[in-house]
Amino acid sequence: MMKVAIVGAAGRMGGRLIHAVAEAQGLELVGATERSGHPQLGMDAGLVAGAGELGVTISADLAAVMKQADVLIDFTFPEVTLQNIEVCARLGKMIVSGSTGFTPAQKDRVAQYAEQIPVVLAPNMSVGVNACFKLLKEAARILGDDFDVEIVELHHNKKKDSPSGTAVRMGEVVAETLGRDYNQVANYHREGMCGARSKDEIGMQTVRGGDIVGEHTVYFIGMGERIEISHRAMSRDMFARGAARACQWLQGKGPGLYDMQDVLELN
Ligand code: NAD
Repeated sequence: MMKVAIVGAAGRMGGRLIHAVAEAQGLELVGATERSGHPQLGMDAGLVAGAGELGVTISADLAAVMKQADVLIDFTFPEVTLQNIEVCARLGKMIVSGSTGFTPAQKDRVAQYAEQIPVVLAPNMSVGVNACFKLLKEAARILGDDFDVEIVELHHNKKKDSPSGTAVRMGEVVAETLGRDYNQVANYHREGMCGARSKDEIGMQTVRGGDIVGEHTVYFIGMGERIEISHRAMSRDMFARGAARACQWLQGKGPGLYDMQDVLELN
């Protein structure tokens, strides 16, 4: 049995992760944490998640929790994730993180820790989205520079980072395939007399509202025709199942920075 701890256990993803780990073969939930001062500290993680009593108390002491665990699942925020990776590296434990919104400098720090421990970092853990990354590569390869690429994503009104990590990864996949530098060609803002669209740019648009779990559409717009590759998430469970699958896959792996393409063997 692989022993798993979950950080941010009372969060939107934390709750779904508790269900997914409890249901996954070969995984055992041994720890759960929340930020200090959180009202649900000291409560049973299973009861908080609506998964029934699991005998795992939500704690604020990650280092103590990780002494009992083999792997940490972390769906928080970049600055919290970096602190958590540091704890895992110090204790020689593995980590699966779905946090999004990392700056390039923060990603470099994650890569440095991954020289010491196995790290899975993926902005989207769903099998469907990862299949979309593969489809996007193929579409961009076939369509080339003749089609304008625009990406639109929709999320709930509590989401902190824009555009979503998934939309950025989609943009990066298309840009890489077309031989462009995503950071040079991403266009996040059009307003007023901003002129005609440049040939190389990839438009990145965000919509925020209500309880939308996550929707992404990549448009390849040509003369007289248009291809749309869309993914719609109906619940957070498939992200959580993906994270559980990443834990199972990590068993026996050495230090390194992995993503869901590695876990699903799509590379
Ligand atoms: P949320 O705010 O509902 O949950 C985050 C939880 O982390 C909160 O309960 C918060 O109290 C807790 N937390 C914050 N600091 C902490 C600390 N120092 N120690 C312990 N717990 C701490 O957010 P969410 O909607 O669950 O999203 C979390 C992250 O997951 C975001 O970055 C989001 O973009 C990402 N996400 C990724 C995927 C994916 O598939 N990779 C899918 C959905 C969401």
